[in-house]
Amino acid sequence: MKFQIPKGTFDILPYGADEPWKLSSLWRYAEEIIRQTALEYGYREIRTPIYEQTELFNRGAGESSDIVMKEMFTFEDKGGRSMSLRPEGTSSVMRAFIENNLAQSGSIHKLFYIAPMFRYDRPQAGRYRQHHQFGVEALGVAGPAQDAEVIDLLCETYRRLGLKDLTVDLNSVGDAPSRIAYREALQNFLRPHFQELSEDSRTRFEKNPLRILDSKDPKDREILQNAPSILESLSEPAKEHFNELRHLLDKCRIHYRINDRIVRGLDYYKKTVFEVTAKIVGAQNALGGGGRYDGLIASFGGPDLPGVGFGTGIERILQTMVSQNVAMPEEMHPLVYFLPLGDEAKEPCFTLVTECRHQKIPAEIDLQSKKIQNGLQNALRLSAKVCAIIGSEELKKGVAQIKHLESRRQEEVPLDRLVDYFKELL
Ligand code: AMP
Repeated sequence: MKFQIPKGTFDILPYGADEPWKLSSLWRYAEEIIRQTALEYGYREIRTPIYEQTELFNRGAGESSDIVMKEMFTFEDKGGRSMSLRPEGTSSVMRAFIENNLAQSGSIHKLFYIAPMFRYDRPQAGRYRQHHQFGVEALGVAGPAQDAEVIDLLCETYRRLGLKDLTVDLNSVGDAPSRIAYREALQNFLRPHFQELSEDSRTRFEKNPLRILDSKDPKDREILQNAPSILESLSEPAKEHFNELRHLLDKCRIHYRINDRIVRGLDYYKKTVFEVTAKIVGAQNALGGGGRYDGLIASFGGPDLPGVGFGTGIERILQTMVSQNVAMPEEMHPLVYFLPLGDEAKEPCFTLVTECRHQKIPAEIDLQSKKIQNGLQNALRLSAKVCAIIGSEELKKGVAQIKHLESRRQEEVPLDRLVDYFKELL
């Protein structure tokens, strides 16, 4: 029987990947930069299970959001409870934050995660059923400086990863009074067009009209062109928050543009929302986004702490790095490749390769080749720096023939000096 990978998923491979962004060396490189940047900004790592009670995501992401309405991987466990694979990070982090009483250890909490997410999407280019996100949640600060920090962290991470030509779209979806005002303004504007709207948008008209702004339907988009701007409905406090945030971003020279059409797909956002897109050959690539979600923790039964965060797709980041020709990291190569010639050399070579490894010298041994040519080819394939050839002659003399694979220079080195010799090559 031949098994196949589930639809909408992919393998991350050390070599042999059909696309360069699926190479594990690239994932490791990006994840290291991401982790380092988040830690430097004072964020601490949190890891939560990949599945939770379905109800958590209904409450968190909101029952009218696409990811809950259409895209959740939901199953019943053996106890008859409805569980779902996590479609986004924030709800799980809120659950863990409350359940573990993290609020007890201070008033400000800055958390980050790098984790797989699951959405039962229609398979299409760039959308996977399992994808990975880097996300942060900054809890406890209501002022706009926290929003600015989070946006800056996102941009700085992209910058350190070498991404170019990014656009930061910024908007405010206001506080509760602003949304009540805007809801009415938007419904009044859309009412004469109701019959022309897509089915999804008609469903949202009463439930959550703001989300109509998110519609990708061409006819909806045409109608929306003249829709009123949410920025005109902002209450005084929401307006002040937005202006202060813009001021801070300007001061820090973080470039953005105002885009009053972005509302983000999840229901919990308040005030600030933002999205970052990258320009790649012939297209735009949505890299990540986020916003403020004051009130969310309280709605889960936790303390009433404000919060702001983002999520960014690692696949999209890596694809953009590849298409923008960002310099890629080198795989680790062995410094030395031991090539024992004949059975009697195998044991001494194995002892030597082990000694090298214990001394943190990347070393490999050929346990298979019978011919020197095959062994040298293997060493070249692995891009080793030198090959240590040991046969019966060498054993008698107590030396190894060291072949430098680039210069082809060869020299004899006594076995008891070998480790020191390699250390100098490191
Ligand atoms: P969202 O929670 O939908 O705003 O997603 C945050 C980021 O995750 C997006 O900007 C994408 O980079 C990435 N993302 C979301 N859904 C998918 C998916 N199905 N496949 C790949 N990446 C995704």
